[in-house]
Amino acid sequence: MKYANVIVDISHEKVDRIFQYRVPEALEERLEVGMQAEVPFGAGNRLRKACVVGFAASPDYPPEKIKEIHGIVEGSVKAEEQLIALAAWMRETCGSTMNQALKTVLPVRQRTRQKLSRTLTCNLSEEEGRKLLKEYERKHWQAKARLLDALLRYGPLDQQRALRELNLSAAVIHGLERENVLRVETKTLYRNPFEGHFTQKKREMLLNREQTAAVEEIWKDYAEGIRKTYLLHGVTGSGKTEVYMELIARVIREGKQAIVLIPEIALTFQTVMRFYERFGERVSVMHSRLSDGERYDQYQRAENGEIDVMIGPRSALFAPFSRIGFIIMDEEHEGSYKSETVPRYHARDAARFRAKLCGASVILGSATPSVDSYDRARSGQYGLCRLSGRFGDAKLPRVCIVDLRVELKEGNRGIFSRRLKAAMEERLQNGQQTMLFLNRRGLSGFVSCRSCGTAIRCPHCDVTLSLHSDGRLRCHYCGYETAMPSLCPSCGSRYISGFRAGTQQIEREVKKHFPQARVLRMDYDTTRTKESYEQILTAFGKGEADVLVGTQMIVKGHDFPNVTLVGVLAADISLYASDYRASERTFQLLTQAVGRAGRGDKAGEAVIQTYVPDHYSIQTAARQDYEGFYSQEILYRRMLGYPPAAFLLGIYLSGPEEAFLLEQAERLGDIIRRFRVAGLTVIGPAAAALSRKSDMYRAVIYLKHTEEAALLGARKQIEQVLEQETVWQKIYLQFDYNPLNAY
Ligand code: ADP
Ligand code: ZN
Ligand code: ZN
Repeated sequence: MKYANVIVDISHEKVDRIFQYRVPEALEERLEVGMQAEVPFGAGNRLRKACVVGFAASPDYPPEKIKEIHGIVEGSVKAEEQLIALAAWMRETCGSTMNQALKTVLPVRQRTRQKLSRTLTCNLSEEEGRKLLKEYERKHWQAKARLLDALLRYGPLDQQRALRELNLSAAVIHGLERENVLRVETKTLYRNPFEGHFTQKKREMLLNREQTAAVEEIWKDYAEGIRKTYLLHGVTGSGKTEVYMELIARVIREGKQAIVLIPEIALTFQTVMRFYERFGERVSVMHSRLSDGERYDQYQRAENGEIDVMIGPRSALFAPFSRIGFIIMDEEHEGSYKSETVPRYHARDAARFRAKLCGASVILGSATPSVDSYDRARSGQYGLCRLSGRFGDAKLPRVCIVDLRVELKEGNRGIFSRRLKAAMEERLQNGQQTMLFLNRRGLSGFVSCRSCGTAIRCPHCDVTLSLHSDGRLRCHYCGYETAMPSLCPSCGSRYISGFRAGTQQIEREVKKHFPQARVLRMDYDTTRTKESYEQILTAFGKGEADVLVGTQMIVKGHDFPNVTLVGVLAADISLYASDYRASERTFQLLTQAVGRAGRGDKAGEAVIQTYVPDHYSIQTAARQDYEGFYSQEILYRRMLGYPPAAFLLGIYLSGPEEAFLLEQAERLGDIIRRFRVAGLTVIGPAAAALSRKSDMYRAVIYLKHTEEAALLGARKQIEQVLEQETVWQKIYLQFDYNPLNAY
């Protein structure tokens, strides 16, 4: 027996309520999430439309009270209905309130003043006009005469200009309109953030063999009515964007639309221009720098069917399109696709759900796919297409891995290895540029040994322990803690510490060693204002600096043909972030960083400094060997039961009183253990990675299971507990499925 959770009649305000119906056997195979069903509703059992938002194997109510679904409603689902279904899906899978989910998918509909343009056009023939003009002049109706004269001489006029330049009052215009001498045509003027910046060239490229194969594989399925998710795996510069554009062009010809998701940071003018050049005005962009008015207008245009392609970050997924053919997600491995506020949805999952609602296919593209996506592609759940070649003459750079343990042994305690210093010196002399990259992410309190490279890890979770201000080391998964040792537990060296250098310190060191060098720095501090990010990159691109120092921001997007050296100062930092995805992120960052060197015709070089030169993330990134990385990483995930080998649910608790919070967290942990869900592992509670934020204490519990449905079930049980016990009103609790970042 199968049960369907539905939202009834979503035009109603009460979308918050989810109702359960029995699925008749005849429909069991056909009925899918997102479909419209007809259900008997209310006392009179009148048939109403309902949207299916989920299924359950067992009923949540007494079975005799559950009615049966009447049938499936065929036909397409309107945009707003799709978005509300998407919100319901978020509520179900991510654990938020319906209200929070609706706020996410339905943008503020605050109407901002629209700009209208009014054009005045003469209704009379030249001859009739001349005759009437003479009459006006005879009667000394000068204002009317001026207007008619202008219309006859110059043709249609803009109302604003006519009022201003002919010195008229609006009454004159209305007068002539009433006499049927002229007509006023009104058009809404949309605020177009890219207006005037482009010319459409309808540029089409001859695709190469691999590109053609990818397009044809996906298109063949599409034409046959097969809808699924594809992973397009191709190094940067291999022509993925051209593949997307060709598929979009085809789907537009079929009267469909496309959404293109791009991480905010890669949403540059150049990217957008390429789409404008190909598709012209029927492209729209949504991003966080739009004004409310601009955003509203783009939304209106989309709703009116004036747009075929919507480009933007995560939120562009909620474009009010009703005829979507493809949803494309470029750089699918990017962390910014995961929402860090409730509902904590991942845009990849949301895209797949929305695609299901409207019969679209999803294309995920990346040079370094997430382990999750690659795993699904390998198992056949996703289609897999590859692009292996690179366009132009760009060759892979020479990569050198420097062992910082050896540097220390030989007396160099500075930030730069001798190799990196020499390479920088050489670039300065022959006028080429250097990028110095610090892969530092917010929290990284790990402790490692500079003599042997060992980082101190949790004996239970195999993630690094974090050094807290009280001098103790803690695990953010299970709560294990221990005192900070004074000597390395592995080799006895006293050079054991956290890594503290920041971008500012590196900037200072560059200036100290190379007083003649012009240095730019790009990090969180220097990119606070809207334009500063582009400004720094543009200045560097124009050769206004020799060295660019920065965090991960600098490795994305832009091409600098004069950069022939990339230095990674301490590859280990991201490796030891205290979560299970650290190796994956390190591999991705290093691969991108190495790929930055030598984009032009000059040969490039990359120097990776590290204390663990043999680590597979570093070795495979240096060779740009994705397969090599994946095959190691997936073994590790399977062995330790981390995603994609299992599913993880983070339960985040926060509250103003520490003791009370920890006590409740302990209690919740015990309650969950007493659910006795077979195969469920409860980890923690533990103090969160950021154990206090804005005077709120934070704790975390992780649940692990190989079946996603089991985690969903556990969450629902927890929600019931939260509803029943009033004590939980004093604690703020959030759920996070397959968290990307440590809380
Ligand atoms: P990706 O999206 O994989 O990074 P792009 O689509 O940006 O790659 O392609 C990289 C460069 O190669 C671009 O300048 C693009 O114009 C060019 N390019 C891509 N495909 C072709 C093609 N079939 N013929 C000629 N140039 C191409
Ligand atoms: Zn050591
Ligand atoms: Zn642990």
